[in-house]
Amino acid sequence: MCIVCSYDKVYILNDFGNYSTLRCTNCGAVFTDKVIDSKTYSQTEGFQTGHVPFHKRHFDYIPGNITARFYYNYLKEHIDLTKIKSVLDIGAGRGYFIKLFEDKGIKTRGIEPRFDEVAFSVSKNLQYGFFDENYSVNEKFDIVCLAGVLLFFRDNYRILRKVVSMLNPGGYIFIMNPNADSERVVNHFGKRGTPYNTACILTRKGWIEMVEKIGCGLVDYSFYEPNILFDMYYRRRIFKLIKYLLFPSSGYQRAGEDGYNIMLLLSKKTVSPEKAIL
Ligand SMILES: [Zn+2]
Repeated sequence: MCIVCSYDKVYILNDFGNYSTLRCTNCGAVFTDKVIDSKTYSQTEGFQTGHVPFHKRHFDYIPGNITARFYYNYLKEHIDLTKIKSVLDIGAGRGYFIKLFEDKGIKTRGIEPRFDEVAFSVSKNLQYGFFDENYSVNEKFDIVCLAGVLLFFRDNYRILRKVVSMLNPGGYIFIMNPNADSERVVNHFGKRGTPYNTACILTRKGWIEMVEKIGCGLVDYSFYEPNILFDMYYRRRIFKLIKYLLFPSSGYQRAGEDGYNIMLLLSKKTVSPEKAIL
């Protein structure tokens, strides 16, 4: 059965031995049949030891900065950032993205479950912690960022509903995720040793339904590649490092509908007075 839409016709996309990836014939969602919650995942993959490989320790700022700036510019294209007063980044890594807002005096918070990232924090507002629907927070935000994060959660709906509850009226959710409509992505999804060793991704059809279900409006849905945070650490590292150092803009490019990543911008619909009374 599909874990997103409950449709009973799903088929095996890839069989990896002790688990498989499945695809729903209705909504197209791709997910693994082995239930690994993302908390267990982040706690068992060796991220908590503080051991950081040499290349990551010394060169992570290159893809980290490119990515942060790319996200920032993407948001700037769609939102009047002068009106933004608070930003939350879930899965903030070392905090490169929130640092850009912090430098402009905007209130930020970053949550990161990997100790090996927090240990190299560049932001004073980055906190070690795990986010899920039980995360306790008193403040609300104008922008919540989920970049390369949602794929690790099996139940996207519960996570997004929680995120919506943490948004100010008219606030935005920014999402970067693998593109479940791309054959290249789904053929790797769930494969150990690749970034797609994860829980669940939605197709465009699934996203349109999800956005409606969580009471948001879809501001933008577009395609980009590669995902340098992943790309950097698989094959020909040195070559890629030099390439990104010399040509930062090659880190992310607009792509066709088969692009590796989707970028989504959602806005929290403001409830009209009539509806609020009902
Ligand atoms: Zn489905």
